[in-house]
Amino acid sequence: MNLKPFFLILLVACVTVQAQVPEKRAYTYLEQMDEIMKSVPGYWKTSLEDIETTAARVKKGTARLLCMSAGNRPVYGMFYGKPNELKRSANLSSAMGAGNMKHYADKSAQDYKPTLFLVGAVHGGELEGTAALMNLVTVLETGKDLAGKEHPDICASAEKINFIIIPCANPDGRARVPLPSMVGLDYESFRYLSQGTWVDGTLTDWPGCKTIHPILEAVEHLGSYFNDDGINMMHDFFFTNPAVETKTILQTAENYAPDFTVLFHGGANGKPHLAGVGYLFEQEKEKIRAFQRFIKEEYAEENFSLGGNGVEESNTKSFNLTSAITHVCGTPALTFESNQGLDYLEEGNPSIVKYTYDEIYRHHMLTIEGLCKFLLR
Ligand SMILES: [Zn+2]
Repeated sequence: MNLKPFFLILLVACVTVQAQVPEKRAYTYLEQMDEIMKSVPGYWKTSLEDIETTAARVKKGTARLLCMSAGNRPVYGMFYGKPNELKRSANLSSAMGAGNMKHYADKSAQDYKPTLFLVGAVHGGELEGTAALMNLVTVLETGKDLAGKEHPDICASAEKINFIIIPCANPDGRARVPLPSMVGLDYESFRYLSQGTWVDGTLTDWPGCKTIHPILEAVEHLGSYFNDDGINMMHDFFFTNPAVETKTILQTAENYAPDFTVLFHGGANGKPHLAGVGYLFEQEKEKIRAFQRFIKEEYAEENFSLGGNGVEESNTKSFNLTSAITHVCGTPALTFESNQGLDYLEEGNPSIVKYTYDEIYRHHMLTIEGLCKFLLR
């Protein structure tokens, strides 16, 4: 692969970002870059150029340019399998008004194949999901991941399941991160790169970064959370004026009526977990709980454990993109929060942990394998 353009982009990105670093704070990620670059495994591919290259190599599936982001960057989707004939005569709301979801998506055909919709980097700097989805695409293409490891379970599932994969839903945010990963990075630099700084140079932090939306005019450094218009797609204007990237995700869900959707996020050094989501599609809540119990056992078999209380955590949280997805396609949608392997721990807090690249990657593949098994039960 020709790496020249990548390093050029990296250099430009570094110079641009460096110029924006407020003097009063010391975000030292540029000094940590050499160390971080040294420890990145060869299978960990997360750059926009990596995605472009992978999309160009898709043969067994179809790679499509789904939209151009606010900052005019491509959002790619990879499609595997044979789309179902859904005999659609209405959207979900109208079908439900008529008393039967089959008017929106009739899934009763003998040859019906469940569809799994997987989305990475809605927050552009949460790179763990992108890394895993790039490997998943490679597995679906070649039978092996980017480390050369075979994944027979996933390959077998691909015979019976359709996959829709968006490795990076927020390329604008991704372009603002001059690193392939956050693993090993200090906490303050992580917050700087992820959520950015207010105009006075202080960290917008989390969840403080949600107090102004769109955030563009209020920041000095725009974090990778946001697209170039300062939109956090998780809390977009879903009903009135969604960003083109958000609309693309919702339309994909509406068009293909996936049977399960997962948005892959990064949740600092929390244990990997299914985040509490408000306003899930009521009829599908029990399926989501069943998946939660199922995946917990899959993790336990490899001596991992999930953090958080998952979907039971709260149903009074905000209506977010995950909620919106379930309401356009009527099926379970989940937010998966990965551990990000940052360089911090909290004394006396066992739920804050620092996982390695291999462990973070395994959590994702375990989750994807679990989703396939769950859909085929
Ligand atoms: Zn996120």
